[in-house]
Amino acid sequence: ASEALRQQDLDHHLHPFTDHRQLAAEGGPRIITHGEGVWLWDTQGRKLLDGMAGLWCVNVGYGRHELGRVAQRQINRLPYYNTFFQTSHEPVIELSAKLTGLLPEGLEHVFFANSGSEANDTALRLVRHYWQALGQPERRVIVSRRHAYHGSTIAAASLGGMSSMHDIPGVPIPDVVHVGAPYAWESGKAMEQEHFAEVAARWVEEAILAAGPERVAAFIGEPVMGAGGVIVPPAGYWQRVQDICRRYDILLICDEVVCGFGRTGNWFGAQTFDIRPDIVTMAKGLSSGYQPISAVAVGERVVAPLLERPGRFPHGFTYSGHPVAAAVALENLNIIEREGLVEHVHDTVGPALATGLGRLADHALVGEVRTLGAMAAVELNPENMPGTRDLPSGTLATRVRNLCFEHGLVTRAVRDGLVFAPPLVITTDEIATLVDILSSCLDEVAAQVAE
Ligand code: PLP
Repeated sequence: ASEALRQQDLDHHLHPFTDHRQLAAEGGPRIITHGEGVWLWDTQGRKLLDGMAGLWCVNVGYGRHELGRVAQRQINRLPYYNTFFQTSHEPVIELSAKLTGLLPEGLEHVFFANSGSEANDTALRLVRHYWQALGQPERRVIVSRRHAYHGSTIAAASLGGMSSMHDIPGVPIPDVVHVGAPYAWESGKAMEQEHFAEVAARWVEEAILAAGPERVAAFIGEPVMGAGGVIVPPAGYWQRVQDICRRYDILLICDEVVCGFGRTGNWFGAQTFDIRPDIVTMAKGLSSGYQPISAVAVGERVVAPLLERPGRFPHGFTYSGHPVAAAVALENLNIIEREGLVEHVHDTVGPALATGLGRLADHALVGEVRTLGAMAAVELNPENMPGTRDLPSGTLATRVRNLCFEHGLVTRAVRDGLVFAPPLVITTDEIATLVDILSSCLDEVAAQVAE
């Protein structure tokens, strides 16, 4: 049955972010059947430790039947109603109120969508509406960063800073500027971290000055870049970027799609870095992936001109504030709160990952280890070993990732690194297992390349 399913998938299913020729060469996808806690099972009966929480999203872990019960109850009561044209419903009202209580201070209004990409598209439209309402429509430039990932729609892909996302005509859209990331391994190795923070923040200011501050609308950034490779900025970077935004009166957008809901050891990455954003976008951990839902939170400054303007804010999705998704998200937030998962990340997961993975920093294949809360990167250094120097970029990490799969650990290769973002419920024993599997896979690949 499993082989027939794999063949059907090959015949009919177009996958996101997948090399379909490679998929065919492998005889089809690995088919995941169920999950419990941090564990997944596939149709071949293999058990895998999900070191990536799906796609950085299953914060409360798999197998939460209470979320299923909430969804069922809501489907039976009110499966759908819209929030357009002066209507609302209980789940979306309760979720809005709950969220504003958890967000950094001052973000009192929430707009809902279905994905992180839509949330970032929405943020872009909000920003442009804002400056237009203020009579400054020429303020349209958005400053973003290389290696950033903000989603896959035309606008979100444009905001993102990965060149692979800009490979079709018309993308990036005009008026998006990308500056260097605060990625010391790439461009600040020789510098004191404090100095590098200054240098990387200066890139932001230089881009603003080059565009003309009177043309710049907003800066967007993930507190810690996730898909770009868990790029943890040096201390002082965010404070400087925030000061620069203030100096030129530029709106600051935090993309909390990955960092939100406990991942960095606080409810939001903005709190970890003491950022006071004007706009926050979120998705993923908002429902722990149990339902597709995303949100954009805005403060008084951004919302005031919109609330005061006559006529409609002409933006929204059929499923904005979907009642089932909202009910599930609300219960998910209750679980995070009730089980103290943010504290668990702060006090237990963060230190255990830092210590466990930190021990691998001296491994022959490893360049550096970065961790913050429940996110981590193990950056390999092909320069370390003669056998790896001439390999095309990414080969080594892909090899380690594939071996990890075979040994029961899901991780993801980003350039020459491996990234981790396990469910927040992970225990210290499970972290030890994660580190053990990775460690033995690194040994095995090191032995292969040394031959
Ligand atoms: N922003 C960040 C930081 C992300 O990591 C992602 C997805 O990985 C997105 C936005 C896009 O979210 P979605 O895939 O739900 O559209």
